[in-house]
Amino acid sequence: MLIKQLRLSGFKSFVEPSTLRIEPGLTGVVGPNGCGKSNLLEAIRWVMGENSPKSMRSGGMEDVIFAGTATRPPRDFAEVVLSAQDDNGEDLEVVRRIERGAGSAYRVNGSDVRAKDVALTFADAATGAHSPALVSQGKIAQVIAAKPVERRMMLEEAAGIAGLHVRRRDAESK
Ligand code: ATP
Ligand code: MG
Repeated sequence: MLIKQLRLSGFKSFVEPSTLRIEPGLTGVVGPNGCGKSNLLEAIRWVMGENSPKSMRSGGMEDVIFAGTATRPPRDFAEVVLSAQDDNGEDLEVVRRIERGAGSAYRVNGSDVRAKDVALTFADAATGAHSPALVSQGKIAQVIAAKPVERRMMLEEAAGIAGLHVRRRDAESK
């Protein structure tokens, strides 16, 4: 899967709608401390269905919504649109939106879907040769310090078999 574009609105420090095109090849994000580099990576993880506020460096999921500054009022919602091309060359557009008091809603190619469908879409994509591997700040140290079970989960995620476990749990609960 190739991520081609990211559109953010009201997400963390990206208060105005911002579009980031990702060209083929290597992309570097540079800028001073606190300018929003990690927020960008978090936006990618978030639109892919991340549900742990902690991994968004937030207390609660609504904290990803622009909280306002001395000169700008807070926003009511955050939205991230990820445009990608899957391994079959098909376009894929995933939208996640969170509104204060209303939780998250997802759309894939224009249709409303469940969070689980989005998570599965990307869990499957990770089994492809061009797997998106997201390594966040501090994660390397975390791998070194992890307990064996946690480390196995990380390796399974990297090996692209996490999606199989999601399906197995789903099948077992039926
Ligand atoms: P570093 O180089 O230190 O890693 P960075 O470029 O990765 O910095 P980020 O951590 O992405 O920076 O951005 C942090 C900034 O985002 C802070 O200024 C913080 O106030 C802002 N921010 C985070 N969440 C929100 C929010 N909900 N509303 C407004 N601003 C936010
Ligand atoms: Mg950072």
